[in-house]
Amino acid sequence: MKALDRFRGPRVSVDDDRCELFGTCMWEAPRVFRLEKDGRLRFRRQLTEEDLEQAAAAARSCPMQAIVLRGVTDE
Ligand code: SF4
Repeated sequence: MKALDRFRGPRVSVDDDRCELFGTCMWEAPRVFRLEKDGRLRFRRQLTEEDLEQAAAAARSCPMQAIVLRGVTDE
């Protein structure tokens, strides 16, 4: 089970050099990731506890392993 880092909170980042804009993350975590019509991926960097499971699923499903979660520790 994941616990939140109480000092900084969970955060997400995407490695632009790896991301190929497949959009899988958007289907897994629509509250966090959004692929815009202009082809850009937008995402919320600061996660709530509610978003964390979906964001973790998005990170696992990203075919390019481009999503990094920080501020999350294993309990
Ligand atoms: S699933 Fe991964 S490669 Fe695809 S848009 Fe999201 S971050 Fe980029």
